Amino acid sequence: MAISVADYRSLSARAIRDGIARADFSACEVAGAALAAIEAIDPRVHAFLEVTSKLAHEAAVRIDALRAKDQPLPALAGVPIGFKDNMNLLGTRTTCASRMLADYASPYTATCVGRSLAAGALPLGKLNMDEFAFGSSTETSCFGRTHNPWDLDRVPGGSSGGSAAAVAAGMATVSLGSDTGGSIRQPASFCGVVGFKPTYGVVSRYGVVAFGSSLDQVGPFGRSVADVATTLDAIAGRDPFDCTSQECATSFSAVLDAGVEGMRVGIIPAYLEAKGVEAEVVVALKGAMDRLERCGARLVEVELPNAKAALSAYYVIGPCEAFSNLSRFDSVRYGYRAPGARDLGDQYEKSRADGFGPEAVRRIMLGSYLLASGVYDTYYYPAQQVRTLITQDYHRAFEQVDALLAPVSPRTAFKFGELADPTAMYLSDIFTIPINIAGNGGMSLPVGRGEASGLPVGVQVIGPQFRDENIFRVAAALERCYPEIERLAPAVEGVEGGEA
Ligand code: GLN
Repeated sequence: MAISVADYRSLSARAIRDGIARADFSACEVAGAALAAIEAIDPRVHAFLEVTSKLAHEAAVRIDALRAKDQPLPALAGVPIGFKDNMNLLGTRTTCASRMLADYASPYTATCVGRSLAAGALPLGKLNMDEFAFGSSTETSCFGRTHNPWDLDRVPGGSSGGSAAAVAAGMATVSLGSDTGGSIRQPASFCGVVGFKPTYGVVSRYGVVAFGSSLDQVGPFGRSVADVATTLDAIAGRDPFDCTSQECATSFSAVLDAGVEGMRVGIIPAYLEAKGVEAEVVVALKGAMDRLERCGARLVEVELPNAKAALSAYYVIGPCEAFSNLSRFDSVRYGYRAPGARDLGDQYEKSRADGFGPEAVRRIMLGSYLLASGVYDTYYYPAQQVRTLITQDYHRAFEQVDALLAPVSPRTAFKFGELADPTAMYLSDIFTIPINIAGNGGMSLPVGRGEASGLPVGVQVIGPQFRDENIFRVAAALERCYPEIERLAPAVEGVEGGEA
């Protein structure tokens, strides 16, 4: 029996692996269905910047060979996966959706990518993003925007918009994104899928193009908490190539059935009354609070007095680190080289001016100013002090609770061009950025559609540092309270497809 495109799109990672193990279908048939889904759907969504059909088929052949020899199948055997295009994968370009790296061939494979492939996943390709991960809408990609599969006139969120949209549209079963200030959680919320940013250090950053090295963290997207847990199990853990990565002995998949009986879940009252938060977001959050309480969790009010300063600290620390990281794109060793330069100085200037888009230029200019002598005392040091205060807020909160429940974004997906003012865009990250500043893990979990907009809304589950299993317990319990939630976006339904 083969697998139809429609069936493929609704299967979980586990169901795909089990189906292959039972010989209901082969990994090659799964690869065929996934590539057919991309061919049918992606012209409308534009989640992919590069489709790696050959790599997907080669990986599928290896899984089918294991199956033929009755060997055990690894955890992600035959599971189609996509990678944000800031992750190196040998045999692909890694463009960061920038003209600067439009022709950049991955010189090696990032650890997170390599580990997913070692776990048997089928690489479908590279996914669209905001240029160098600067943004919240995927509108700054130099290769054109990605459309939200729930409403093609709206943004998918960002910066990992392609990663969220590919999963929501049923093209990829799971995907990887990166999150410096919300770039996994916010697009997950906008696209109605699960997205997880682990505690800083859980997943290696080796081979992922750096934005803010002290903030960046890789994490998975999926249509269920279980798929995200399986993917995280495959990619987490110490990597000798990233000295900030940590040993990880936890199986996140193993805690999903533990329930929340007796767990203390923190609520931040100030978040429920925060200005600029849409009513439907508050309604969704309150609904999740009620359901968790009914599952046996105890809700506890906690305060994060310094969290309101997180955005200000982030827009100092983030640009400073970005400025420093992006200085390597000098047109000599890395990056686009503009033609017709008079001398080396002119070459630097022209290449960087043409190679970077406006948002990247804004961040670089900001970072360069903030780090100028005489200026960094005024901004950079205080921002680091604020960072310590925020981190301490979370430590104190987690002395009282096992997890926190918060909004992801103050709103649901907006229309293209609606947040044209950069400051308005920056403000939309107020609930995600504090977690990156403190280094904790956070997950966006879909809890239905906004009552006013009809668009997906997520809630955020946050855990103590290196206790990400708490998040998975709470999220899995909460997910069971929402059995009715659709996980495939209707805007691209109608792709029934035949046998692949
Ligand atoms: N939207 C935030 C920014 O523009 C976060 C981006 C990210 O997490 N990569 O910086």
